[in-house]
Amino acid sequence: MKDKPGNIYQLLRHAMVAQVEMGVGELIINRKNVKKTAAPPAPIATPVTAGESDLFASESHGPAAVQYESVEAHRRAICECQLCPLGATRNKFVYGAGNINADLMFIGEAPGADEDRLGEPFVGRAGKLLDRILAAIQFTRDDIYIANILKCRPPGNRDPLPAEEEKCLPYLLEQIHLIQPKLLCALGRVAAQKLLKTTTPLGKLRGRWHDFHGVPMLVTYHPAALLRFPTYKRDTWEDMQLLRAQYDSLR
Ligand code: SF4
Repeated sequence: MKDKPGNIYQLLRHAMVAQVEMGVGELIINRKNVKKTAAPPAPIATPVTAGESDLFASESHGPAAVQYESVEAHRRAICECQLCPLGATRNKFVYGAGNINADLMFIGEAPGADEDRLGEPFVGRAGKLLDRILAAIQFTRDDIYIANILKCRPPGNRDPLPAEEEKCLPYLLEQIHLIQPKLLCALGRVAAQKLLKTTTPLGKLRGRWHDFHGVPMLVTYHPAALLRFPTYKRDTWEDMQLLRAQYDSLR
């Protein structure tokens, strides 16, 4: 049956808003309603081999260049941080959570309102969706570690400012150094672009393995984006299949 013009315009508008908000470079619209679809994602690259991480080999990372003996020692050392203005507006510092011996670490952007209230990452609606995504590939929170690039909430959930990211990123690098995951998964445009130092749209970064200082890193959509744009769940499912397969290959 032919789509009514009004529906098409609604779909196009919806997809364009999604592109702007998520940094998706190509137009993806609901495949159920429109026959002509976007090109499939780029071929999946061969994962790089997890090797010796060069996380601290070549650059100074500011405060985190002091290396800590444990994750807890690091958390205690930085939990009162006021290095950027977000320290003054946060309710709770959100360090990270999960299994400190995990082989898989997820990295998001920044705490939201629920996380800021509770001091834990991914605890709101997006967190519940992340739990369902994990369960779909036979993981629980106890199998993984989760952290954000920023440890304090940007007011109104705005994107992190470059100066805030620069101040806070060394903390994440130290967390990765301490936990030593074998695989990373960046959730969403902000985390992916910041970690990979690129402006490439999320739609071109997702579904592929990248190298992050010697650690293979997959990029996929942020669960909060999936709540707003369920169209991307199928792509996320494909990404999670890749992640699980690579995780299993480590065993
Ligand atoms: S966002 Fe990061 S750098 Fe800024 S105050 Fe919080 S912990 Fe410190």
